[in-house]
Amino acid sequence: MNIGQNALGAGSRGTWAAMWPASAALLLLAVALPGCGARSKPAAGTPATAAANEIQELTNQTLIYECPRCGMMFSAAGTCTMDGDSLVATRVDYLCPADQKPVEHSGRCPRCPMNARVEKTAVAAAPAPTPGTP
Ligand SMILES: [Zn+2]
Ligand SMILES: [Zn+2]
Repeated sequence: MNIGQNALGAGSRGTWAAMWPASAALLLLAVALPGCGARSKPAAGTPATAAANEIQELTNQTLIYECPRCGMMFSAAGTCTMDGDSLVATRVDYLCPADQKPVEHSGRCPRCPMNARVEKTAVAAAPAPTPGTP
């Protein structure tokens, strides 16, 4: 039974202090390295102005802007994106073909199995408020 071994070595002095600057430099490197992956993507050619959105299908719009030349419909006034014609403000009515009464949206009439009929009426460019509505 020999327990006289002195394991308390005195030779470990200064080693961690020598390691510290190296690890600190590594840390700094790791922090400074990223940044090459953060590339800002340029905006795809969508101008902020002239945001006339094309309407693919009428659902419950009541006022659209229609191109008189090609018939494309847009949600805002402006010019046609296809041919540059000025759009015509158009009122859209949805009517039940059975009783000719207005329904709220295109598609099936809420009162009967028929599909609502879409009626478009060109309106003046500057819509005046309709007086006399109760
Ligand atoms: Zn057009
Ligand atoms: Zn109906």
